Amino acid sequence: MEKIQELQEIFLKEGLRYTKQRETIWQEINSSTEHRDAEDIYFTLKTRGVATSRATVYRTIEVLVRNNLVRALNIGDGRYRYENKLDQTHHDHLVCTECGKIIEFLNENVEQQQEQVARDHGFTLVRHIHQLFGVCEECQKN
Ligand SMILES: [Zn+2]
Ligand SMILES: [Zn+2]
Repeated sequence: MEKIQELQEIFLKEGLRYTKQRETIWQEINSSTEHRDAEDIYFTLKTRGVATSRATVYRTIEVLVRNNLVRALNIGDGRYRYENKLDQTHHDHLVCTECGKIIEFLNENVEQQQEQVARDHGFTLVRHIHQLFGVCEECQKN
């Protein structure tokens, strides 16, 4: 598990103690495919019986995001959603404005079009954030 060592180095660099709780917070995010806010992650850990404080969870997530281990999504409602960034291939998101559901998608045409747009303007694309907002199937029924 060389990832654990990397994690230890990151916390050291950030001047934070490397604890079992912090490792568990990372594993909780890394083993999930969900897009959750810090509060959801905190409550999941609590339900699992992990003894940690809200402050530790928030602080740890912040460090993980800053060090590119976790991705933070801003979907415009003031609450960041977090997702596993390692071992995840690139994808974009569809966001339901009613229930907050997030669906991942990857569309080759969209990807190529974005590359083309960048080239047309003399840009070399480094990364992109592409989010589509709408109302999901279930919410349309209600
Ligand atoms: Zn919905
Ligand atoms: Zn995602």
